[in-house]
Amino acid sequence: MNEEKVWKELEERLSSYQAIETALTLLEWDSATLAPKKADQKTARMVGILSEMSFQALINDDVRKLKDKLAKKGTELSKIQRAVLRELERQYAKLEGIPPEEYRAFSELKATANRIWSDAKEAGSFDAFAPALEKIVEYQKKFADYRRKANPGKSRYDILLSDYEPEFDCEKLDEFFGLIKQELVPFIHQIIPKARMVDKTYNGHIFDVEKQKRFCEFLAEYTGFDRDRGVFSESAHPFTTNLHNEDVRITNHFQRNQLESAIFSVIHETGHAVYELQIADDLTQTLVGVGASMAMHESQSRFYENIMGRSREFWKPIYGKLQETFPEALSEVSLDAFIKGINRPEFSMIRTEADELTYPLHILVRYEIEKELMDGSLSVCQIPEVWNKKYKEYLGGEPKDDAEGALQDVHWSGGEFGYFPSYALGSAIAAQLYETIRQEIPFTMYLEEGNIEKIKKYLGEHIHRYGAVKGTNQLLKEVTGEEFSPRYYIEYLKRKYTKLYDSKQ
Ligand code: ZN
Repeated sequence: MNEEKVWKELEERLSSYQAIETALTLLEWDSATLAPKKADQKTARMVGILSEMSFQALINDDVRKLKDKLAKKGTELSKIQRAVLRELERQYAKLEGIPPEEYRAFSELKATANRIWSDAKEAGSFDAFAPALEKIVEYQKKFADYRRKANPGKSRYDILLSDYEPEFDCEKLDEFFGLIKQELVPFIHQIIPKARMVDKTYNGHIFDVEKQKRFCEFLAEYTGFDRDRGVFSESAHPFTTNLHNEDVRITNHFQRNQLESAIFSVIHETGHAVYELQIADDLTQTLVGVGASMAMHESQSRFYENIMGRSREFWKPIYGKLQETFPEALSEVSLDAFIKGINRPEFSMIRTEADELTYPLHILVRYEIEKELMDGSLSVCQIPEVWNKKYKEYLGGEPKDDAEGALQDVHWSGGEFGYFPSYALGSAIAAQLYETIRQEIPFTMYLEEGNIEKIKKYLGEHIHRYGAVKGTNQLLKEVTGEEFSPRYYIEYLKRKYTKLYDSKQ
C-alpha cells in the first residue's frame, strides 16, 4: 500500500474518533448549560459508553499499524501530516496503558462529579465533595503511573502537566513561580496600600441582568466573536468550547451586584473563541485543529481580558455606552476612575475575580497543592486546611468558608490536575507577545479607534491559524524572536501598576 492510501485510511479512522468526540463535547456543553438537574446520572452512563467508544476508535491495532507505517516515512509527509502523527503519538502515550473499562468508569465519574461539586459549593461543604474528589485523585494517580512506565524520570505531576503544556514540567514551573515570589511579591506589598485609595464603590450597585447580558454580547462581537459561527449561553463557571472552527460556544455568568465579573469573563472567553474561530480550515476537525497548548490558549484569553480589556485605550471608544447602560452606577465615574477601579490590586479570595497583579499567587496556591496531592504527601481531606494556610501566607487572609476557598474552582471535578499553571504561564506568554505586538502594529491606535479587527487579524496570522501544528516555544520564537521568557511579564506588571497607582502625574 502506498503512503497516500495509508494516510487516507488513517484519516478515515481519525474522523470516526472526531465524530464521537464531537458528540461528547456537545453533551458536555449541554450538561453545563441546558440539561435539567436530574439528568446527570443517566446521561453520565451514556457519556461513559461514548467515552469508551472514543477511546477504542483511537487506541486499536488498526490505527496503531497505520500510525507506525507512516512514522517510518518521516520527511516524505507534509507538515500537517507530521503534526497529526506527533499528536497521535502523544494520545497513544497518554491512553495506551489505560484499560478501556477504567477509562470508561473514570469518564462516568467525571460526568457526575460536576454536579456533586456544584452542590457542595452551594452548601459551602468540602466534606460533601471529598469522597468524589478522592476517587478522581486516585484515578489520576493510577493513570499517571501507567504512563510513568515509559517515562521513569518524570513525576506524576510532570506527566499531568504535559497534557496542558507539553513544554513545561515542574522544574521549569518551580523556576517560574520562584521568580514571581522573588520579584512580584515585594512589589505587590508595596503597591496595594497605595491602590487602596482608589474608590470602586460603583461595583456595589445593582446591575440589571438583562442589561448585563446585552452589553456582554455587544462586547463579544466588538472584540471579534462571530455570531454566525458561535452561540452564547450561561453556566456556573464561564467557559468556551467548540465543535470545529464554525461552531464555537461561550458561556458567561451574571450577578446582580457585580458588573466586572461578567464583563471580564466575556472578554476572556472571547479571546479563547477567537483563537478557535481562526484555526485554519485544513486543520479543524483533525487532531491538530485545536490551540497549540492550554498555556497558549490562556495567553490569548488573558491577552484579551487584561492587556486589551483592562486598558484605557480599549474603553475610550465604548465607555460612554457602558455609562449609558448603567447610568446610576457610572454616570459620575470618569473613564480614568473606572480604569483605576477595574485594575485595583487587592488581596482577595476568589481567583476568577482577582486583579491581574495578584492573580499568579492564586495559581501558586493551586500548583503547590496539586503537586503534593499527586506525589501523595497531601491527602484530599487535608486540602481545606492547607488551602487556607497558603491563602493566609500568600494573599493575606483566609476564606470565610470552603465555597470561597478550596471549592471555588470547577477544574478538579473534571479531573483537570495540571491545568492551573496554564493560566499563569498564559499571562506571562501574553506579556511577551505584547512586547512584540506593540512594536509591530499601532496597537494603541487600533484600540482607540475601536479597530479590534486588526489586532484579531494579527493574532490569527501569527498564532491562531497554525492550531497545534506548532508548539508554544516555536510560536513564541517566530513571533518574538525568543523562547519563553517570564521577565516581560514581570516588567509589564511593574510598569502598568506603577503608572496606575504610584506615579506623580
Ligand atoms: Zn481561560
